Amino acid sequence: MMEKDTPKETEVSSNQVAKAAIADGKITFLTEDITFDEIQKLSTLVLTARKMVEEYFGVKTTFDILICKGRWEMEVQVMSRREGRKGPINGNRRSSTNLRGEYYDLSGSVGITDYRLEEIIIRYDIAKFGHYLHEMIHAVIVKDYPQQLREGLAWYFTLKLTEKHRYVRPQYPAWVERLYISPVRKLAQILGDDDFLRDFAVGRASLEEEGIKDEEIQDMFLPAELFYSKKQKQRD
Ligand SMILES: [Zn+2]
Repeated sequence: MMEKDTPKETEVSSNQVAKAAIADGKITFLTEDITFDEIQKLSTLVLTARKMVEEYFGVKTTFDILICKGRWEMEVQVMSRREGRKGPINGNRRSSTNLRGEYYDLSGSVGITDYRLEEIIIRYDIAKFGHYLHEMIHAVIVKDYPQQLREGLAWYFTLKLTEKHRYVRPQYPAWVERLYISPVRKLAQILGDDDFLRDFAVGRASLEEEGIKDEEIQDMFLPAELFYSKKQKQRD
């Protein structure tokens, strides 16, 4: 298996835009197949997404951004991060091996957040603004929450922050809606207050989930392995 830093890393230090973006966490290009114009455009996207997250959540994001291009470069990143880990990584495709079919398809990954190494990996050739935003939101969500809850919150707020700009939204399959977004939306409705949910996401507020008598919501607080085996059984 390839090490994560096997591809040649190209630090962008000569670029003013990139320099602005790297003030809180650096951008590293794993691909060399990128033009100066693309670097500038991409740095603006990263900077804008970061600012949006910081302003909305009131929390600074310091995760490093790794930029790769093409399916193979992304797969190398996903595979190298699965080595020697217990839990699944956060991505818009899941990496669990105990599920099959649609859940197991990693090939379409556009972005992943590695909480352990505090890195966001983006496949820039297919990423929209919403993908950068989504992963940056992951970076401010409490690490200790179960994976499915982090995913649900990240999606809920990705959709909220792109409400007026739907064309920048990442597309997502129906199971993302069913597994992650729908329960968090239900939770938001019960709370009746997105500010509280936002504070809960970043750890400024806590929730007594036992008090919420809704199985779908309570499932979001289960350990990830239990959550996925339960959802799998419900499908079979
Ligand atoms: Zn996600």
